[in-house]
Amino acid sequence: MIESKIIVVGGGPAGSACARSLRRAGLDTLILDKKSFPRQKTCAGWVTPKVFKTLDLNPKTYPHTLNRFNRIHFHLFGIEFPVRTCQYAIRRYEFDEWMILRAKVPIYTHKVKLIRKHKGYYIIDDTYQCRYLVGAGGTHCPVYKKFFGKTAPRPAKAIISAVEKEYQCNFSDNRCHIWYFENRLPGYAWYLPKGNGWLNIGIGGKFLKLKKQNRTIMDHWHLFAKKLVKLSLIKQAPHDPKGHNYYFFHKTHTYNRDNLFIIGDAAGLSTLDMGEGIHAAIKSGIMAADAIANHKQFMPHGLTKFSLPGIFLTKNH
Ligand SMILES: Cc1cc2nc3c(=O)[nH]c(=O)nc-3n(C[C@H](O)[C@H](O)[C@H](O)COP(=O)(O)OP(=O)(O)OC[C@H]3O[C@@H](n4cnc5c(N)ncnc54)[C@H](O)[C@@H]3O)c2cc1C
Repeated sequence: MIESKIIVVGGGPAGSACARSLRRAGLDTLILDKKSFPRQKTCAGWVTPKVFKTLDLNPKTYPHTLNRFNRIHFHLFGIEFPVRTCQYAIRRYEFDEWMILRAKVPIYTHKVKLIRKHKGYYIIDDTYQCRYLVGAGGTHCPVYKKFFGKTAPRPAKAIISAVEKEYQCNFSDNRCHIWYFENRLPGYAWYLPKGNGWLNIGIGGKFLKLKKQNRTIMDHWHLFAKKLVKLSLIKQAPHDPKGHNYYFFHKTHTYNRDNLFIIGDAAGLSTLDMGEGIHAAIKSGIMAADAIANHKQFMPHGLTKFSLPGIFLTKNH
């Protein structure tokens, strides 16, 4: 049996940030992730200045692909609104590996399946045991499913369906574009150039509203890809886009019970207007670590619920 005082299930931004803070507090911690890093993660990779602030890092010192935007070009019902701001784009493939290595805790590649409690310990797949268990496994987190699914159900109305493709291509427009409500999409679509020739395009929308329209997110993806070709932003629709569902902020009051914690997408913390989840993942990870280290109740209060005010208020500097 491999024992650690704390086990974090999932090494995305939430799990890595939590593990790093726990290690810095002198607590014995390890991470279990079903994938070995670097790994692909379906995500546009847009990060706000708040992310760097929370990580206590100057963006200039981030060692991987980083694109800084001084403007976002919003499009609404055919009208373009350029907004001055300061935002960033990273590649999750690089960012998540950088985050997990920065945590400097042991990492085991293991897909968590069975968790049980025995004499005050959480036993995972009869192989790992711990006193404190942190669920940072994203939407399908096994810690959420086993211990919080019934007491803190995530409502279907909070599901965001999203599809994206990140690939290297020759694109001529290095600006960031966002289209709201294209073809009645209950959400928005993006064109997000990264550094080093990488481009991310995608769409996201409210799952239940899509269902009411009798449309799938893939129907909207095809329409959007066609539009980008028509606008000459891309030459042809890319193959194999990847889709994923996650949850935006919803009413739940259970993020912590006994020595169990859920953070990031496992808790459903993305913003209501833009589905921004990286900041909430990192922040909730740090807050959960603080609660464990200082024997406090964990309530992720004060997390930003809307992204747009931050975009409009953050000026280029
Ligand atoms: C298409 C799309 C675009 C998005 N764009 C943005 C964006 O631009 N900006 C933004 O801020 N947010 C965006 N988001 C949301 C953002 O990706 C998530 O909110 C964020 O990744 C949450 O981080 P996390 O650490 O909680 O979970 P994750 O990043 O999902 O990490 C969970 C980890 O747990 C591991 N895991 C899962 N199950 C198990 C298991 N059984 N055993 C062991 N390990 C397991 C996984 O391998 C993974 O490494 C987007 C989401 C999607 C789907």
